[in-house]
Amino acid sequence: MLNLEYRLPQQRQLLTPVPGPASTALAARRADVVARAVSSSVPVYAVDADGGVVVDADGNSFIDFGSGIAVTSVGASNAAVARAVAEAASRFTHTCFMVTPYEDYVAVCEELAGLAPGDHAKKAALFNSGAEAVENAVKIARYATGRDAVIAFEHAYHGRTNLTMALTSKAMPYKAGFGPFAPSVYRVPVSYPFRDPDGMTGEQAAERAIAMIATQVGADRVAAVLIEPVLGEGGFIVPADGFLTRLAQWCRDNGVVLIADEVQAGFCRTGSWFACEQAGLEPDIITVAKGIAGGLPLAGVVGRAEIMDAPHAGGLGGTYGGNPVACAAALAAIGYMKQADLNARARDIGSIIAEVLGPVAETSPIVGELRGRGAMMALEFVQPLTKDPNPDAVKRIVAACLSAGVLVLSCGTYGNVVRLLPPLVIAEDTLRDGLAVLADAIVQAGA
Ligand SMILES: *Cc1c(COP(=O)(O)O)cnc(C)c1O
Repeated sequence: MLNLEYRLPQQRQLLTPVPGPASTALAARRADVVARAVSSSVPVYAVDADGGVVVDADGNSFIDFGSGIAVTSVGASNAAVARAVAEAASRFTHTCFMVTPYEDYVAVCEELAGLAPGDHAKKAALFNSGAEAVENAVKIARYATGRDAVIAFEHAYHGRTNLTMALTSKAMPYKAGFGPFAPSVYRVPVSYPFRDPDGMTGEQAAERAIAMIATQVGADRVAAVLIEPVLGEGGFIVPADGFLTRLAQWCRDNGVVLIADEVQAGFCRTGSWFACEQAGLEPDIITVAKGIAGGLPLAGVVGRAEIMDAPHAGGLGGTYGGNPVACAAALAAIGYMKQADLNARARDIGSIIAEVLGPVAETSPIVGELRGRGAMMALEFVQPLTKDPNPDAVKRIVAACLSAGVLVLSCGTYGNVVRLLPPLVIAEDTLRDGLAVLADAIVQAGA
């Protein structure tokens, strides 16, 4: 991998126990005033971050394999993004695009329309969060079709607002106690090669889902099929070849809008601008957020012009959607992704992860599968030599990595998946050092 320039030393360094005294003091203040339902994966408080490292309040430096959940692909203090933010903020922080529009909103929509797959005419709209993008994609699909039903999948994650909770599959921690949920959402099985019956093809898994839609809903009531091309929170599940294209064909045949939720998988993460490209998919609508704006809150919906233009003027919007500072950050981040070819870098990161962890996955009795695309890779942990989920091993591995100075996140419907989402700008040495720590933790947990 090409060497990049960094502001901070790109190595892990622990000066205190984890957490140290400064983080511990902040945790005590937090306990008094921050609602406990908002929880954090790690007990350390960030004061600085650059490239592939996060520095905490005690001066400890951690290798970052989480990117704040797939957000800081260009780094958490990318110089081009920081400059664009400062420059935009010095002119104006807000006018509201629905009141006094500005160029950068238009420019971000041009980028989205240009990058999304397919040579049909496309249009876009901007929002603040991934959940808001998904909600708006569903609103647009319902308006365009005049139908109400939305098909979502097992293991899906689409956000924490009321509609997106309904679309999300997992009860704990996302939904339990927060109902009632939005109606007209139907859930069908996804293609999950590791857990599907042996030999089930992608087409067969799609037919399984389609048959269920036909019997439970009826194709003529379905507004949209909503799917993550690589499922994120559900466990970095990559559907078998043929699954997504068969679904897309069924959508076309039945006048159903296919929405790809690329909030986590999009924007170079999997080694292409959108993960759906690698499955040969041209969705009618794509939702984006997380990685697009170098850490600033921005989300978008991009899709076929005639579908995007279906709702009446004034039907979509929001006070902050497409905030000018966030748009400037997105333009800088996208420019950097192109200039540094972060798609190629994501593929290189994926190859290095496979090179280092492949042999560990092969030999460890508790690794069921190493899977993923590009820099969106994961290990699914099982009870030794079975397929029964092993969330305890994941807890031990995540804890061992943290105490050695490596931040890794878990995920998965059964809490048994370790996911790797390093910033795409991470240095190769830093990546390899972090992976060595992880490999060691896996071997220990399986012994
Ligand atoms: C994170 C995520 C969302 C929700 O995004 P927020 O910005 O947290 O609202 C939606 N879909 C997918 C696939 C995600 O990973």
